[in-house]
Amino acid sequence: MKRTITVALLAGFLLSQAGQTTPVTTLKLDSIPTHLLANVGTEKIMKVESDLANVETYSNSVKNEYEANLKKFVDIPSVSADPEHKADIKKMADAAVSLLKSMGAEARTYETKGNPIVVGEFKAAGDCPTVTIYNHLDVQPADPEDWKDPPFNMSIHDGVYKGRGTTDDKGPALAALYGAKYAHDHKVPINIRFLWELEEEIGSPNFENFLLNHKDEIPTNSVVVSDTIWVSRERPAIPYGLRGLQGVTVTLVTGAKDVHSGTTGGLARNPIGELCQLIDECYDAKTGHVKIPGFYDDVAKPSDDEVKHFLSSGFDLAHFSKAHELNSLRTNDPKEASQRIWAMPTFEVHGIVGGYSGAGIKTIVPHKAEAKLSMRLVPNQNPEKILKLFENFVKEKCPDAVVKPEGSLKPYLGEFTGPYNNAAKEAMKKAFGKEASFTREGGSIGAVVSMHDILKCPIVFLGLSLPEHGYHAVNENFDWQQANGGINMFVHYLAKISQVK
Ligand SMILES: [Zn+2]
Repeated sequence: MKRTITVALLAGFLLSQAGQTTPVTTLKLDSIPTHLLANVGTEKIMKVESDLANVETYSNSVKNEYEANLKKFVDIPSVSADPEHKADIKKMADAAVSLLKSMGAEARTYETKGNPIVVGEFKAAGDCPTVTIYNHLDVQPADPEDWKDPPFNMSIHDGVYKGRGTTDDKGPALAALYGAKYAHDHKVPINIRFLWELEEEIGSPNFENFLLNHKDEIPTNSVVVSDTIWVSRERPAIPYGLRGLQGVTVTLVTGAKDVHSGTTGGLARNPIGELCQLIDECYDAKTGHVKIPGFYDDVAKPSDDEVKHFLSSGFDLAHFSKAHELNSLRTNDPKEASQRIWAMPTFEVHGIVGGYSGAGIKTIVPHKAEAKLSMRLVPNQNPEKILKLFENFVKEKCPDAVVKPEGSLKPYLGEFTGPYNNAAKEAMKKAFGKEASFTREGGSIGAVVSMHDILKCPIVFLGLSLPEHGYHAVNENFDWQQANGGINMFVHYLAKISQVK
């Protein structure tokens, strides 16, 4: 068998050996030193038409295609929280499978008790390691009335994409897909599997079971999660920890109907007022300090090294306030602020429902009120234990209030060293020209803890979203600058980790 050899793998390998950054073009087998061939293994030597340095040209060439596919995805209102969108979830899964197939990947859906999970794969030739890239294609609800542009009819203006799910998480999912496609077509020796969930926004209730049932079919050497937010556009972030969550609704019913506040007021109990008092007993709303006994007992404080990383991450209070359109904050000390969002637990009031909320006032004493609450949790807090503490506390302070547990997610703390994180840092630098910082993420991704426990391999967070993209907010958006850099970054990352022994 005659070999005409040009080598993508070797191109990457030689680049890393020589520490050079200039493009390597065609390498003839005869010109490759035999000691390098021995290192690589001849079965992994493959033919390529061009090398990885052309990825920038590639990403620009697929810009229109990327945008068209993103629009196709965003225009499907795959809202997992609303049962009315069940058909859209199915439509989303089908669209994802057909896109994967059209790009040359194998793809199928797995049914669960809830929404399906899409699994795709670019298979490499020979005995190669596997990386699993996790994204989700369900989205938060969006009320068109509150948006400047329609949330489910994606608009494209000068490389800015507006619509629900553009940044969380359909845009990053497609950037990863296009990066993977390039790596696959250029014979980077790695199997690339996609796990696209459709229940992330409701706490991944069936993801763990899916992994338990199918873990033997989807073995992997490492996982990439692309669903996180940078500190700012100037500073890529690679988070290594996530907060957990315990949601609760508390309902208090004090009568059968709303009654006249003149006739009954002073004697009738007021459930809205009592829930407000209960909330006040739970936490100090001005400082955020939680007053439930035992709440902070298990909190693992960040190490000095971590706090240093937080401070050097480019985290800036003025930028933070502007990106999130916040008028003022609980503290103006950057050190305390960064720990508050990344390493400390919270108690949050999302809404109080009850009474009269129309124009003016209506002089009634309400008969029922509901508080929607959650607590973000940090390592080593346990959602079950926190829920017990909360339930006992409510029983003591307001015995006839009913606590209903809502979503529950464990916190996650990984590493920020090792070959995969090093590869992530180098890939970010290559693609975006900027040094990435290792931070934690204040949000929660339940699937991460499941993947950590069941797939038992390193997990790296390669997010592309920015604070101003508006995760979960109105006018969510994404942009080509991040998508383009993301495609490049994924190519470099995949090439690098294909070499990890
Ligand atoms: Zn997300």
